[in-house]
Amino acid sequence: MQALTSRAKVVGRKPMTFLEKLYIPVIAKAMGITFGHIFKKKPTVSYPEQRRTFSPVFRGVQVLNRDEEGRERCTACGLCAVACPAEAITMEAAERLPGEEDLYKEEKYAARYEINMLRCIFCGLCEEACPKDAVYLSETLVPSNFNRESFVYGKKELLIPHPLKEPEAYARARGERGS
Ligand code: SF4
Ligand code: SF4
Repeated sequence: MQALTSRAKVVGRKPMTFLEKLYIPVIAKAMGITFGHIFKKKPTVSYPEQRRTFSPVFRGVQVLNRDEEGRERCTACGLCAVACPAEAITMEAAERLPGEEDLYKEEKYAARYEINMLRCIFCGLCEEACPKDAVYLSETLVPSNFNRESFVYGKKELLIPHPLKEPEAYARARGERGS
């Protein structure tokens, strides 16, 4: 048969030697490779009991920030949603009522704020777009789940604890990255 190219190679089909027929040398060689790995440092960790040290630029789940008095910073301006390349953010704005000054920093606030974690690519553009320092990406991983709906995070999941009422939970959620 005529070859299509000149790159074809003829494969030799030498008869196997006695040792090759026994397979013992190659089995011994393979076992040597396997046992050699037993004494090497394991590349795996027992998550979630053990955790890797993340890179300083690791981006995890978003946090909706409060100011030092515990008021929500978000004004529902929508800039984060516009900047989001994955269209993962939705919100509904509401007007602050008299007497709610200790809850919301500005006259307008996000009555509903949701991020779909299945869409999010953790690019950080929402954080960069926000003029109010109201959202940032923390060092916390999004926990796994079997239910798709549970990956739509609302204010209940995203809002940082109150710094004056729950200082310990606030410090934990804030981590090293909050400002
Ligand atoms: S991190 Fe990126 S993809 Fe995720 S919500 Fe923010 S802008 Fe959208
Ligand atoms: S998080 Fe920031 S950018 Fe997004 S709506 Fe609130 S204030 Fe605007």
